[in-house]
Amino acid sequence: MFEDSEEEGEGWEECEEDQEDTQVTCLFCSHNFSSAEDTFTHCRIEHNLDLIQWSRQHQVDCIQYIKIINFIRLKVGLLLYEVMEK
Ligand SMILES: [Zn+2]
Repeated sequence: MFEDSEEEGEGWEECEEDQEDTQVTCLFCSHNFSSAEDTFTHCRIEHNLDLIQWSRQHQVDCIQYIKIINFIRLKVGLLLYEVMEK
């Protein structure tokens, strides 16, 4: 009856497949990726930040992570827009 989609443990790899149409932008540069996992790999290699480990520590799943990034980038984007306009 109830679909339990919140299994413990390895949610990251499964999550990737549901996010095919999602564009994820790196938080530290302007790179775009088609999946959260690509972003994490990029951040680990390019920025020395293991976001998967960080997210597990803070119990953030990848969908939440995408929301957080989109939120931050929206705010930063608006901020930049305001600065540029002046
Ligand atoms: Zn980056």
